[in-house]
Amino acid sequence: HPPFDVSLVRKDFPILSELVNGRPLIWLDNAATTQKPQAVIDRLSYFYQHENSNIHRAAHELAARATDAYEGARETVRRFINAPAVENIVFVRGTTEAINLVAKTWGRKHLGEGDEVVVTHLEHHANIVPWQQLCQETGAKLKVVPVDDTGQVLLDEYQKLLTSRTKLVSFTQVSNALGTVTPAREMIAMAHAVGAKVLLDGAQSVSHMRTDVQSLDCDFLVFSGHKIFGPTGIGALYGKAEVLDDMPAWQGGGNMIQDVTFEKTVYHGAPAKFEAGTGNIADAVGMGAALEYVERLGIENIARYEHELLVYATAALNKVPGLRLIGTAQHKASVLSFNLQGYKSEEVGAALNQEGIAVRSGHHCAQPILRRFGVEATVRPSLAFYNTYAEVDVLQGVLSKLASAKR
Ligand code: PMP
Repeated sequence: HPPFDVSLVRKDFPILSELVNGRPLIWLDNAATTQKPQAVIDRLSYFYQHENSNIHRAAHELAARATDAYEGARETVRRFINAPAVENIVFVRGTTEAINLVAKTWGRKHLGEGDEVVVTHLEHHANIVPWQQLCQETGAKLKVVPVDDTGQVLLDEYQKLLTSRTKLVSFTQVSNALGTVTPAREMIAMAHAVGAKVLLDGAQSVSHMRTDVQSLDCDFLVFSGHKIFGPTGIGALYGKAEVLDDMPAWQGGGNMIQDVTFEKTVYHGAPAKFEAGTGNIADAVGMGAALEYVERLGIENIARYEHELLVYATAALNKVPGLRLIGTAQHKASVLSFNLQGYKSEEVGAALNQEGIAVRSGHHCAQPILRRFGVEATVRPSLAFYNTYAEVDVLQGVLSKLASAKR
């Protein structure tokens, strides 16, 4: 592997040269969304300049170019997560839409009175609300795996929740609120042992670690393009072939049909069956370019650099008097979540913004896990591979100043 050179990598991201409040931007809101490399910006622009057309239907040159670009992006997603075939990859609007799609199709078909869906206490609202809605509709029950005081899933408790009634386990590979990396492979095997299917929420993981769907053996993997250096409004749903085949269509319309009469419609197979209407063609192509960019850097290089940076940042924040880090699991990625004594989290966010530092403050669409730790909100810096040790030092400096103002 070539050594990871963060100063070179940063040059690929034009927005990292922005000034905010007269200071160089320090983008530490990567768990909310990531910045885009020039390669992605250029790819989108190239599409609209040279390839733009609707796909599949027309017999002209640009339709062929657009179709090739779109299907090429599907192949890139396949390769990135090591799916067996492009038919396993459905383009969706993002993680939220992917989970809703599975709940509304697979879920409605397979869940009934007395069945159970298992999630963890760590989940984002996007991986809670669709299952709650499904349970209300079907009479199934939602069960929640508790976490320990570090924010890690309690595997013994998880084991106790798994029964022959468990039809689906849906959980995140990395917590967006705490950064916990869950033991996904083990949890998936445990679910399969009772005959349950597994949906893995990869929104916060695919940009930080190798995610191989065949080695994990998940039935579904979902993620969002915008959290992996690609555009908003596009994401991917991976499903095992037999699982996708067993799912009814969701939205009806053009593209997803083989034949329509007023009496009856014959659908295409996956993935077309789940892609009704004109999709987000350009952004799918842009997401493909983002994944190729990550492949060029090397996900292992990224993971190694980010791990060291997270260890450094954790130690730096622990030096700030009155700062309480929430989520101290041994296996973590990217996220630091904390409160600072004497300040509301939005006050800390505003003070950091004054210095050009972008963090999220609030409940991070994960209220249950914050309440598990007795708080309604935290300040959440989240790292990506383009962040630097020097940026962490600036963050620590501003926080230390805030802390001493209250002492
Ligand atoms: N799951 C997790 C773990 C997330 O972090 C997010 C985004 N914060 C989502 C789901 C929802 O993703 P999106 O808003 O892109 O649909």
